[in-house]
Amino acid sequence: MVSTPHITLRNGVTMPQFGLGVFQVPANHTAAVVQAALDAGYRLIDTAQMYGNERQVGEGIARSDVPREDVFVTTKLANDLHGYDGAIAALDESLNQLGTDYVDLYLIHWPWPQQGRYLETWQAFEKVAADGRARAIGVSNFQPQHLDRLAADSNTVPAVNQIELHPAFQQAELRTYHATHGIATEAWSPIAQGKVLGEPVITELAERHGRSPAQIVLRWHIQLGNIVFPKSATPSRIAENIDIFDFALSDADMTAIGRLDRGMRTGPDPARFPG
Ligand code: NDP
Repeated sequence: MVSTPHITLRNGVTMPQFGLGVFQVPANHTAAVVQAALDAGYRLIDTAQMYGNERQVGEGIARSDVPREDVFVTTKLANDLHGYDGAIAALDESLNQLGTDYVDLYLIHWPWPQQGRYLETWQAFEKVAADGRARAIGVSNFQPQHLDRLAADSNTVPAVNQIELHPAFQQAELRTYHATHGIATEAWSPIAQGKVLGEPVITELAERHGRSPAQIVLRWHIQLGNIVFPKSATPSRIAENIDIFDFALSDADMTAIGRLDRGMRTGPDPARFPG
């Protein structure tokens, strides 16, 4: 079984740098997928209220041989529940679904600047962190101006910002912002939902290292310091994706992948979503 490296967040909590994302894993399949991942050595599961499979994530953990306290569970607040009371009640519901009395990391899923309630929502996040119902709190899809607003008007810097990030969309500006402010970078859609795996640079590196294209891209993330949780509902890929801790890309390999950046989003632009 593979064991994964850890990152220490700004509040001292440590979390695995690698795990499983369960967006678009059908609810009736999720418990089995989570169990397969835990069996393979995964210790981080990334879900969200909006994925509709929190209950099955909890079931997968409960059915596995891995104790709850050894699994790092992240969930995210649904967009329609922004606001102080909404966010507190939403976490209660997530904990109920997950069958646990705390999450390891709780995230504001999208800033939704048009609605403009993320600051009030963040105050509820500070409260659930103080109560111990979330061991760490963070945000997702926040841009520098949203992070600046939290810095100006609240007392807590987010532990992480979870953003779309892969070789075709490398987010240099946000990564620099995170590094400057002590915010860990989580990369969603780390393999661009498969869209970067046919890039000649990636397939050539895969051949040279005797690895799959997905392993090359995931290894690139790890060496950049990103936290990654590729989604797969396929047992062979779940095993393949975690098998990246016994080889290294050279500086030249990293530079070659760095040149693939072309501003290609696979998901929505946070400035306009959900509208
Ligand atoms: P990924 O980049 O992880 O790609 C997932 C896709 O790639 C699936 O179709 C999967 O297929 C396929 N795949 C997985 N492993 C391999 C492999 N080794 N070789 C070839 N294909 C492979 O995309 P996601 O969008 O799912 O992102 C990962 C996670 O990030 C999500 O599950 C979620 O937790 C998080 N996320 C967060 C967002 C946010 O707004 N905060 C937005 C989007 C994602 P299959 O399952 O059939 O094996």
